[in-house]
Amino acid sequence: MGERSRVVVLRELLPAGQELLAARFETDSLGLDATREQMLAAAAGADALVTDLTFAVDGELLDAAGSQLKVVANFGVGYDNVDLAACAEREVVVTNTPDALTNATAELALTLAMAAARDLSGAEKDLREGSWQGWDPARWRGFELSGATIGVVGAGRIGGRFMELVAGLGGERLYTARQPKPELELKLGAERVHLDDLLRRSDLVSLHLPGTPETRHLIDERALGLMKPTAVLVNTGRGTLVDSKALIRALDEGRLGAAGLDVFEGEPDLDPGFLSAPRVALAPHIGSATFRARDEMSRLVAANVIAVLDGREPPNPVTRAKK
Ligand code: NAP
Repeated sequence: MGERSRVVVLRELLPAGQELLAARFETDSLGLDATREQMLAAAAGADALVTDLTFAVDGELLDAAGSQLKVVANFGVGYDNVDLAACAEREVVVTNTPDALTNATAELALTLAMAAARDLSGAEKDLREGSWQGWDPARWRGFELSGATIGVVGAGRIGGRFMELVAGLGGERLYTARQPKPELELKLGAERVHLDDLLRRSDLVSLHLPGTPETRHLIDERALGLMKPTAVLVNTGRGTLVDSKALIRALDEGRLGAAGLDVFEGEPDLDPGFLSAPRVALAPHIGSATFRARDEMSRLVAANVIAVLDGREPPNPVTRAKK
């Protein structure tokens, strides 16, 4: 028998996936506190790297791994942390974990939409701080989503599922996507429109695009200016989709109704303006954080690594470069 392949988990994979890998390969797992230097050192000689959105997978890391590297398996569906061109140049396959987290992320978008619309965070803070004076007819009034026009920006897997979840609220359903989605139009009566039209007409706008150079700051001062002053903006896509400063100004000046945010520019640091802005529901990038989704994502990571190292097509290729 030849030498066992080496799989390096540059941060952490859950047991559901880790055990599948450990049964087949020599594995090394650096843990959540791994520094870039430790990652570069540990990657040397790896046949597979397990990565996640918190660090860059670039030419430097790939070169540190060496020319035997066959696969970068990203723990997550978004792969804006991975330099796909650098991987393709080195004939390294890139994989991700779609579908497993679609329900979890769509449900969090709905949670944030509801929480932001009713300023649940502000109201709960009042209660926790002991400043609640009892039932008040005027205080803590928010926005109702029943009958609202709902705009989904990026109606892919997660955006499409979000649209299904909100269908029970009634009202119009609008979406943007690069390709039309006949199933959403037929099943849910959704209408594909231009982004500006969606922003003008929607009472709730939910962002489900990937983070790319083209989608950076799609929601900027101009876009926010098109939205209704009572509209709720939800972002579970990527922090880079929204110009944080412009959003904070719009909330502070009452030009936007509310915001529900799971992702941030430069996370885990977040603009302190979000902590003091009114009517904001915040979550620390927990879109896929359900027991079911994270276990399934971990299994998918392992299945992708195993397939590539066995010389098969992986279940979830982002790029198909093969050695
Ligand atoms: P998806 O199925 O690929 O959907 C992406 C949607 O964006 C599609 O409708 C796509 O249009 C559209 N789109 C518009 N411009 C695009 C561009 N420049 N590049 C690619 N797509 C573009 O992906 P998904 O599984 O729904 O995931 C969407 C994003 O959610 C991920 O990329 C990730 O950033 C984010 N996410 C966040 C969390 C979290 O924890 N908060 C969890 C999971 C995912 P077409 O359909 O016409 O291609």
